[in-house]
Amino acid sequence: MSALIDHLGILSNAPGISGNEIAVRRAIRPMIEQHVGGLHVDVMGNLIAHKAGDGTSPLRVLVTAHMDEVGLMVVGYTGDGELRVATVGGIPDRLLPGLTVLVGEESLPGVIGLTAIHRAGKGDLEKAPGVDQLAVDIGANSKDEAKRLAPVGTPVVFSTRFETMGTCCAGKAFDDRAGCVALIALLSGQPFPFEITGAFTVQEEVGLRGARVAAYSVDPDVAIVLEGTLADDLPKVEPDVSPTTTLGLGPAVTVKDSSYTTPPRLLRHFVEVAEAEGIPYQLKQPGVGGTDAGSIHQARAGIPTITVAVPCRYIHSPISLVRDSDLAALVRLVDIAARRITADVIRPL
Ligand SMILES: [Zn+2]
Repeated sequence: MSALIDHLGILSNAPGISGNEIAVRRAIRPMIEQHVGGLHVDVMGNLIAHKAGDGTSPLRVLVTAHMDEVGLMVVGYTGDGELRVATVGGIPDRLLPGLTVLVGEESLPGVIGLTAIHRAGKGDLEKAPGVDQLAVDIGANSKDEAKRLAPVGTPVVFSTRFETMGTCCAGKAFDDRAGCVALIALLSGQPFPFEITGAFTVQEEVGLRGARVAAYSVDPDVAIVLEGTLADDLPKVEPDVSPTTTLGLGPAVTVKDSSYTTPPRLLRHFVEVAEAEGIPYQLKQPGVGGTDAGSIHQARAGIPTITVAVPCRYIHSPISLVRDSDLAALVRLVDIAARRITADVIRPL
């Protein structure tokens, strides 16, 4: 198994809803510490790694990937000792009933209960319950026991375990653990012409928060955001609507999403490198989604920023699929394109 896939399996299985990224940070640290000069955790919880350059360029480049995943949080209890939960980040309520989950630091197993079909009324079968009508059963005997085992604020993640599935990897949290493993690979390679700072950020899914702080403190000349993005090639939205991205067509380069627009020169640079090197790539359909680029490009006096992403099918659900070849091509594209960034590439036209 390649290091990329090996790392993806470890990080996919780690729990880390927004604001509780500790297990992910702990898993990443040993994967990079021998490859970087300095490593620290900032006040927000971002893991920041500095890798010295070979001294040929004075530019300072920031590369980010967010550690947090969408999930649930305990917000209360039923009288029978079940956990009331709220979503953290964007998860459709309709996919929650019947799922198994892991609760808190001890990874207590739980199930999101649903009325048995034998007792369900007609209305129950036609309409998905909202998250406020659902509860997580952890086998507690009483409300007091549930409170002791899972105090308010306890994070809850999907119980999905990483596996390979045909030509794909299947698991939870590829948004953005796929970006994290790509950043680990970049930091593990040969020095770049310039100092490169890798920021594994927190709280992207709840408002691009960690990246805002990281961009301010690092104060780079240019930033590259590595993401896992929506592949809606399946199920098809409508026959004539172009998918946002398609699994297997290579990394998706963002022209524009709802959070920012890539500066034209920086965009052209990445596209030209992909074409010159024969690296497959696709342009992400403009408009959909937002990334840490949304806060980074407006940090300080403005930072030219580009997002490159691994297509993830069934994103923001308990299980997504990524294609190994897309992940490998993303690392290759970003590695080569980053090495060739010059002051001209980031100067406005
Ligand atoms: Zn993401």
